[in-house]
Amino acid sequence: MKTKNKGFATKLVHAGDPPDVYGSAVTPIYQTSTFAFESAAQGAARFAGQEQGYIYTRLSNPTIKALEDKLAELEGGYGAVALASGMAAVSTAYTTFLRQGDHMISAQAVYGPSRALAETLFAGFGVETTFVDTSDIANIKAAIRPNTRLLYLETPANPTMSITDIAAASSLAHEHGIITVVDNTFSSPYLQRPLALGADVVLHSLTKFINGHADIVGGALIAREEDIYRKLHHNMVLLGSNMDPHQAFLVTRGVKTLALRIEKAQASARQIATWLESHPQIDWVLYPGLPSFAQYELATRQMDGPGTMMSFGVKGGLRAGITLMNEVKLALLAVSLGGVETLIQHPASMTHAGLSPGARAAAGIPDEMVRFSVGIEDVEDIIADLEQALTKVAELNEAAVAG
Ligand SMILES: *Cc1c(COP(=O)(O)O)cnc(C)c1O
Repeated sequence: MKTKNKGFATKLVHAGDPPDVYGSAVTPIYQTSTFAFESAAQGAARFAGQEQGYIYTRLSNPTIKALEDKLAELEGGYGAVALASGMAAVSTAYTTFLRQGDHMISAQAVYGPSRALAETLFAGFGVETTFVDTSDIANIKAAIRPNTRLLYLETPANPTMSITDIAAASSLAHEHGIITVVDNTFSSPYLQRPLALGADVVLHSLTKFINGHADIVGGALIAREEDIYRKLHHNMVLLGSNMDPHQAFLVTRGVKTLALRIEKAQASARQIATWLESHPQIDWVLYPGLPSFAQYELATRQMDGPGTMMSFGVKGGLRAGITLMNEVKLALLAVSLGGVETLIQHPASMTHAGLSPGARAAAGIPDEMVRFSVGIEDVEDIIADLEQALTKVAELNEAAVAG
């Protein structure tokens, strides 16, 4: 279906859907590994790229292609590849743009495994990475070397919510012939479109907002230009990092409600962030929609909305954080984000419990930090849940003072 000049919510529903022989309303699951040719000549023509058509599911498949075409249109790119996971997208991107002896500049506050992949496997392949605070463009400029090939950004960053100016960073990178990749997982194309700001490639963990229902893992890379798309597709086929048709079907179903889900959760997030900021048991709140947020102006300019993710500091440090985790009843204690369910996570007692308090502080993860992903439940219920759990935290803090 042609959706040029259509609004975003219309694209979410209709973009990418190919006509189906039976007129089915949704693209079916083509659960097949291979596609039969009508003749040897047709097989030859497909392999030579002279005839459109499918060959083998690792290369392409109608269900996966429908999702890829939708994602490309949503991000405003030439083409997209759908991948097995967000990390399959990260590894396929690194592999496409980096060779032995090359240098990458990466955001310091980047998704943990994206950093680990650079520091372990790619360091072993002879690729050096410099991690800088990309919220200050001067840091990127200072890190550029003659062999820098890739600038890898994530904005807003996790869990600090720090924002990088995508237009300024991409323009600096282009002056030096450097490819810019932006991990857009935290915003989704509904709130931020990095290709329009000058980035070359957008990366997604589809596991999060785009699928939105916490029932699959998936990833995607969306390229602004044809030659980059072709390289990404070529490497996906060789690496076998492709998605499977059933996964693609679920993501295509999930993404159709992206606008509704984000509008609902974002309205709640604004209300929750404001409420938390004035709560006596809360020290600080990091949410791009709060005027107190350090990069409020840049966030407002670059994004169409502040999103549904926030971090906050609970008074009483580690013990208070653990108490909050144990007392919430509605919010699920879980990593991941961007689903219909509200999720809460306490890095010091969960994802980063293995580090010493000193190492955590050095990584910018203080013991009082809580990460919160707002879902689409009724906001009154989410606030009531936090309220009753924070009452328990207050009791703990008062007992600590008394005792
Ligand atoms: C979850 C996540 C990833 C990795 O995605 P998976 O689907 O878990 O492999 C990458 N980047 C960000 C920002 C994420 O939140």
